Amino acid sequence: MRSRTPQHAALARLERRGAQLLIGGLTVEEVCARAGRTPVYAYDRTAIAGRVAELRAVLPREMHLHYAVKANPMPELVREMAALVDGFDVASAGELSVALAGGMAPARISFAGPGKRAAELEAAVAAGITVHAESERELGELARIGRTLQRRPAVALRVNPDFELKSAGMKMGGGPAQFGIDAEQVPEVLASFDTGALDFRGFHIFAGSQNLSAAAIIEAQNRTIDLAERLAAAAPGPVRELNIGGGFGIPYFPGEQPLELAPVGENLGQLARRCRASLPQATLIVELGRYLVGEAGYFICRVIDRKVSRGRVFLVTDGGLHHHLAASGNFGQVIRKNYPVVIGNRMDATEREAASVVGPLCTPLDVLAANMELPRAMPGDLVVVLQSGAYGLTASPRGFLSHPEPAELLVP
Ligand SMILES: *Cc1c(COP(=O)(O)O)cnc(C)c1O
Repeated sequence: MRSRTPQHAALARLERRGAQLLIGGLTVEEVCARAGRTPVYAYDRTAIAGRVAELRAVLPREMHLHYAVKANPMPELVREMAALVDGFDVASAGELSVALAGGMAPARISFAGPGKRAAELEAAVAAGITVHAESERELGELARIGRTLQRRPAVALRVNPDFELKSAGMKMGGGPAQFGIDAEQVPEVLASFDTGALDFRGFHIFAGSQNLSAAAIIEAQNRTIDLAERLAAAAPGPVRELNIGGGFGIPYFPGEQPLELAPVGENLGQLARRCRASLPQATLIVELGRYLVGEAGYFICRVIDRKVSRGRVFLVTDGGLHHHLAASGNFGQVIRKNYPVVIGNRMDATEREAASVVGPLCTPLDVLAANMELPRAMPGDLVVVLQSGAYGLTASPRGFLSHPEPAELLVP
């Protein structure tokens, strides 16, 4: 029997002109010329709009789609996104500024995340956004700030669910966590919720991230609605916003298959119908980061040196883990696997070899591709890491070794 090496699913959708990879209709060299330097992160505008359209086609019409800004807070991209989605979720006062500057209406912005500082909560209340309270301390602070600013802060409770998103790349619920208020404590917190000082908006239940299994996502969504209905019975007023999280993943590694959206959309349709009866005033919200922007992003770096060390080929580039920690395998991977990588100016090459793509840092962790089959590449060639639109630049230790910052571009 012949065994086939599993492929990277993302390679199947690439377009090229001659030897050149196309990104948003531009060749990879044109993208670098426009940026004026390498490395560069390029985000394909059309791909982002296309992804949102695909989602809209399967989501129930009344369901709101939010963008989790932390996935990619590039201001120009955030501005683009403001016109495409129904709201933003931010995780800091810094992201709140980007969201507001991007043109999103404050009433459609929510702020979740542990350890919000007083100044951040003040900025949120002053802006009139919804704060997802992660603790009783935050509820007390919000009431105090509301009195000072003579506002009644809009507040939803972030709930740490009593279940997990199975087979998620990153679990965020089910056990003890710094996120949210434990589901079993929520009724007690609701009993003392100060409705004079605070405007109760509803619940935020986020169970996990980077999931490629429709069945697992459906199960978590069903349990999320069960939990929300139970908690609503103890609420001080009607639930008006119910953020059910997201967790939709994208394929990064060989053999991974894209998430099947149709069954997820169908299940959400059923849940939306059910909520019309059980939570009639609630706007249902899915919040997605990676799924909206991850596949639209390309990290491009240039080969500086080609070395052969004891029979192994190393392509040393001007980009590395300080720009793209996730591709190096040091952002939550247990066993390092290669992201999909191509040589962007040798897309028609027939001569291939096993090579490792490494960055310029003085650490063996600085690997963008380990022992991968690639076209034979030379100094000056362009290495392109796919699936790089989410948790790329701002999720990387950019200060490490004091190299210049990569450029970021929205194309075309
Ligand atoms: C990070 C985060 C998201 C976005 O997760 P993705 O995997 O990028 O979709 C959504 N909601 C909350 C609360 C988060 O912390």
